[in-house]
Amino acid sequence: MNDTRENLPLVLIVDDDEAARLLIEISLTDEGLQVQQAADAEEALAAFAAHRPDIVLLDVNMPGMDGYECCRELRRRPGGADLPVLMLTGHEDLQSIQRAYEAGATDFLSKSNNWGLLAHRVRYMLRASRAFVNLTQSRQRLASAQRIARMGNWEWRTDEGRFAVSDETLDVLHLRGAGLDGTGESAIRLVHPEDRAQVIDAVRQAVASGEPLCTDFRIVPPDAAVRWLQLQAEMVRDSGDGEVGMAGTVQDVTERYLAQDRIRYLAYYDSLTKLPNRTLFCEQLGRAVLRAPRSSGRLAVMFLDLDNFKRVNDTLGHSVGDQILASVAERIKSCLRQGDTTGRNYEEQFVDVDNQARLVGRHGGDEFTLFLADLKQDSDAALIARRLLASLAQPFVVGAQEIVASASIGIAMCPDDGGDVETLLRHADAAMFHAKEHGRNNYQYYSHSIGAAAFQKLALESSLRKALEREEFVLYYQPIIRIADASIVGAEALLRWRHPDRGIVPPSEFIPLAEETGLIVPLSEWVLREACRQARAWQLAGLDPVHVAVNISAAYLQRANLAHAVASALEDAGLDPHCLGLELTESVFARDLEATLTLFMGLRDLGVALAIDDFGTGYSSLSYLRRFPLNALKIDRSFVHDLPHDEDAVALATAIIAMGRSLKLELIAEGVETPLQLEFLRAQGCERFQGYLFSPAVPPQEFAALMAGGADHGRLLCRAGL
Ligand code: C2E
Ligand code: MG
Ligand code: MG
Repeated sequence: MNDTRENLPLVLIVDDDEAARLLIEISLTDEGLQVQQAADAEEALAAFAAHRPDIVLLDVNMPGMDGYECCRELRRRPGGADLPVLMLTGHEDLQSIQRAYEAGATDFLSKSNNWGLLAHRVRYMLRASRAFVNLTQSRQRLASAQRIARMGNWEWRTDEGRFAVSDETLDVLHLRGAGLDGTGESAIRLVHPEDRAQVIDAVRQAVASGEPLCTDFRIVPPDAAVRWLQLQAEMVRDSGDGEVGMAGTVQDVTERYLAQDRIRYLAYYDSLTKLPNRTLFCEQLGRAVLRAPRSSGRLAVMFLDLDNFKRVNDTLGHSVGDQILASVAERIKSCLRQGDTTGRNYEEQFVDVDNQARLVGRHGGDEFTLFLADLKQDSDAALIARRLLASLAQPFVVGAQEIVASASIGIAMCPDDGGDVETLLRHADAAMFHAKEHGRNNYQYYSHSIGAAAFQKLALESSLRKALEREEFVLYYQPIIRIADASIVGAEALLRWRHPDRGIVPPSEFIPLAEETGLIVPLSEWVLREACRQARAWQLAGLDPVHVAVNISAAYLQRANLAHAVASALEDAGLDPHCLGLELTESVFARDLEATLTLFMGLRDLGVALAIDDFGTGYSSLSYLRRFPLNALKIDRSFVHDLPHDEDAVALATAIIAMGRSLKLELIAEGVETPLQLEFLRAQGCERFQGYLFSPAVPPQEFAALMAGGADHGRLLCRAGL
């Protein structure tokens, strides 16, 4: 009971007339109100502070502080501002009423009125006061909820041509000063140009259907970043149920879009280059392929692979490699951008790639993929490819270093080279490999012959793997002749593959593949052992000891321990190391020089001779020739070929021979085919040669026969050229 009583509204009656207070109390308590009494203004103020009444009935005429003064004082007290105060006047003259309002009274009542009315008046005032409090509270709650939700409300009256946004809305959306002047146009002007048509459409549709509207769009506030808003609205009807406009809320949903973008970004973009990753690129290429038949442009797919990028990573480290990859991505993007507007979104970190005509993605590592769906003709792809190669040819500056890169590009056209994403990419990839084989730093279109070549290569690789087990390799030997007496002083071991279907396959057709696949290691080791075994076998058969030279490719050096392999081959064959020579090309000097030097020293200490093969075609410098323990230079047959008529060939061969002699290196000319060539070489002081003039590389038995009948050949030769 007590509780309920405490919940009853409390009325403070302030009157110096005790009888009046009593009368009032009776009429109010009968109506279910609680009452407190005060006999003067001081008591009233104290009771207000102590009991917080819900309403005050205040007599005007009191000794000491009168009612007006007391009312003013109450209004000043904390919590007094909104307190309902009913002034009780003895008279109904206008002046007293005026004074009552001036003092802050909520209402007034003449004491001459019947007291029964009083309770109703009090109840009414209490209800009004509570409604007022509720209203302000709910307004405040709404405002703070809207502020938290970054939301505001608006109204658009078509009947009045007025667009109204609350001040709170302007604040929440930071749109003060954005030029909203109460017209629909000023609001539409704020909408992102790309989204305007969509917003206007949505509004029109809502007006036509009478259905609620919900649409997201971007706004471009002056001097502020683009933001996403969500607009919700319902039609506003007048009393006759006619539509007079729309009203609704508007919410800033930028965060939501950014979060969505971030998730999309992580799943679909490469973090290093900020390019679409393979998934997104393929998705977009798929769409471009679907659009292609209806589009006026031609669709080209490109596969771009940096040349020798592994070397950059290995020598300069991954962080430099990463910086270069990021710069490469930038350059590719700018090549696609030139002269077209579709790429402008690349300015933004979060690239919107939907339905773009051109796109570049990172396929992985140093591989990039591109598509161009807006080409006038197939040959335009070549224009872009050339633009890409030219752009990548500019040095990359990382820190204080300038790094030069290049790329190989393969191009496949849709639908001629493939009608789906997978085929197009595979064929562009095959064309890229073709570009690599063409010496890198170039582009190639896919053609069906590349596909066939790629297939052949695959077939070759698998039969190459089996060839070693099946013992299909053999060594042929080409005699090396001392020019002075035309005698055979050595042999170069040259590898041949006796292919079951194709017959004898020359090394140029399988050595590069063996190097690529790593098969070069077991193959080279087999060659070393076989050459040593054969040399020893000839000796045991009673032939004069010959010096056998074996070719060692740089790819083998990189992967295996040559010194160890040589020592073990010699030992197993029981061959004197002085009977073995190794031919290495100048490309060994492109490796780690110190390691190469150590290796060469070790081999020389073993007693094995070292020759530089194909001399003049690589990049060895005089200083390498001095530093390294070499025995011989083999003059490449391309120089010998044009002797003695071609001036350049003469100048080069002369210079090489002179240099070799000054370095005390033995000179062996390769590919000597004519007596005139031989005559020239002899005159210049070259000591040895090999070539068809004497004999091509022949199987071991034939070589033994040549040795045995060497004198005959020597005589023949002398007659011919010496
Ligand atoms: P190379 O070491 O410069 O071998 C000389 C090449 O010239 C041989 O070709 C030989 O047959 C050819 N030749 C010899 N005399 C003449 C001539 O008078 N005229 C012409 N036009 N050519 C002549 P081959 O045997 O086809 O070898 C080609 C290359 O393959 C070799 O060049 C060598 O770099 C590589 N090679 C051969 N055997 C092996 C091997 O066992 N291991 C490695 N790693 N490479 C090898
Ligand atoms: Mg050789
Ligand atoms: Mg050679």
